[in-house]
Amino acid sequence: LATETEHDVVVIGGGPGGYVAAIKAAQLGLKTACVEKRGALGGTCLNVGCIPSKSLLNNSHIYHQIKHDISHRGIEVDNVTLNLQQMMAAKDKSVKGLTSGIETLFKQNGVQYVKGTGTIVNENEVKVQPLEGSEEISLKTKNIIIATGSEATPFKGLEIDEKKVVTSTGAIALEKVPKKMVVIGGGIIGLEMGSVWSRLGAEVTVVEFLGAIGGPGMDADIAKTTQRILQKQGIKFKTATKVLSGDASGEGVKLEIENVKNQKTDTLEADVVLVAIGRRPYTEGLGLENVGIEKDERGRIIIDQEYRTKHSNIRVIGDVTFGAMLAHKAEEEGIAAAEYISKGYGHVNYGAIPSVMYTHPEVAWVGQTEQEVKQSGKEYVVGTFPFLANSRAKTNLDTDGLVKFIADKETDRVLGIHIIGAGAGEMIAEGVLAIEYGASSEDIARTSHAHPTLSEAFKEAAMATCGKAIHA
Ligand code: FAD
Ligand code: NAD
Repeated sequence: LATETEHDVVVIGGGPGGYVAAIKAAQLGLKTACVEKRGALGGTCLNVGCIPSKSLLNNSHIYHQIKHDISHRGIEVDNVTLNLQQMMAAKDKSVKGLTSGIETLFKQNGVQYVKGTGTIVNENEVKVQPLEGSEEISLKTKNIIIATGSEATPFKGLEIDEKKVVTSTGAIALEKVPKKMVVIGGGIIGLEMGSVWSRLGAEVTVVEFLGAIGGPGMDADIAKTTQRILQKQGIKFKTATKVLSGDASGEGVKLEIENVKNQKTDTLEADVVLVAIGRRPYTEGLGLENVGIEKDERGRIIIDQEYRTKHSNIRVIGDVTFGAMLAHKAEEEGIAAAEYISKGYGHVNYGAIPSVMYTHPEVAWVGQTEQEVKQSGKEYVVGTFPFLANSRAKTNLDTDGLVKFIADKETDRVLGIHIIGAGAGEMIAEGVLAIEYGASSEDIARTSHAHPTLSEAFKEAAMATCGKAIHA
């Protein structure tokens, strides 16, 4: 057993939570190591999540646009064909560039990258089974940050083979476009990956248990608009529908479904089924039992406000604990955890974490939904502005969607902002700042926005909230 000199911090997991925590800790002068077992840094997000899915979303959108939305723009293109292999290669190139970039950042900041599986032996020791070679390494440390992330929740009775029955990991790497794809779960993964394969030619049906799509956190009005727009693009939806069972023993996959309102059953057949019913915390082989650290009923590691477990030197961040499973949320926590260790204080404003779904149009939001504000009993005002009345959206021939503001009726403070429209994911940054700074809708309404930009719709929705919009 090779024993290293003592570290100040050992981070287990090299995803957006872990690698950011490690870099920040090193920047704060702490002797830091990061243990990652995947063979590449960047975690789920860079290797099989955010990055590859966005590469496919971008390029499938360009393909679809050139094929179906181009001649009325005065551009004639003949013989548009898909080279799926090349599209996948472009995706792999982006992933490789970004994951190896983190290795460079580790070197620049003096973080030790330990390739292998980390197991907590006791409060001050992490044992690593290296990826190469057989000799275990023992890392002695003053602090441990757990950032082991999450994995796809399986669907009982349907075995994942990542070919016919896939999670998002298989769905970003299919070798050919399926004729028929059924997506179980109409949340963010289902709608993003459903969009990719629908644009590339698959007949996609999304089966969602609840009455609305979008997963947790999406405003009900926006979810309805999203479903209408995606339906127009050719995706079929079966909401309020439960998948009872699946059979993948034949050539394709057969699913038995049930309408939850009238209990009517039906069968769906597909070449590929994507299971996208959520993700669950991942703690396999981590050795939590060696230190008596507890999880809740959903497998999330229990922590206090300062990310501490029952051992004050073992902290937990990202998907493996409470809160939204988002890369930027994990990153904020990584920085805060490193600051707690180094300085004794840190902070994340959970009320100002944006969510973005990268379909076309994009859907983005920050703060509370209208349903949440209503439930809180607060009196509120809603202001909306459609992209159909925005000059840039009109010149772009891309007018689907709207901006919706919710503000406190008494103080005009912005409580929530919800956007569906091209570029919503970039535009929401302004909403996050507004909420972070406690802005009123009038603050935004009186702020100049360049003309002609899509962001004028943002200003006009604020105008509609505190008074009246000019252009609608
Ligand atoms: P992870 O990224 O899961 O990283 C944990 C790492 O720990 C893994 O690399 C794992 O190998 C390693 N590990 C686990 N156990 C051990 C051990 N014992 N020893 C050593 N290493 C270990 N979020 C967004 O914000 N935007 C998006 O657009 C987005 N798109 C997504 C698309 C898909 C298809 C998926 C699946 C997810 C997406 N997410 C997105 C969610 C995002 O990927 C996660 O929220 C984020 O990766 C969480 O970061 P993390 O550091 O907590 O965990
Ligand atoms: P999700 O929680 O967003 O959605 C899962 C959906 O599946 C829900 O709408 C749920 O009602 C439905 N569902 C659950 N069980 C079902 C069943 N048996 N039959 C039919 N429907 C069922 O989960 P996800 O889409 O799998 O994504 C996982 C996580 O990854 C999320 O936390 C998400 O935030 C994150 N993610 C984020 C992004 C992004 O930020 N753009 C992209 C992908 C994933």
